[in-house]
Amino acid sequence: MVEDSDQFYCETCDREVAESEVIRTKTMGSLDPDKWQTFCCPECGNRLQTVFVGEE
Ligand SMILES: [Zn+2]
Repeated sequence: MVEDSDQFYCETCDREVAESEVIRTKTMGSLDPDKWQTFCCPECGNRLQTVFVGEE
């Protein structure tokens, strides 16, 4: 299942960030890094959203 949105919003920078722009990092918790990634703002590094990528 793929979410419809490929845009994320950074409150710190007050801008939209395209999925192709985001920095992908491991999640902070104990989630499986092969299935979950945290998307971060390329400008400020702010965490935008934790995304399920297991189906990719
Ligand atoms: Zn930002």
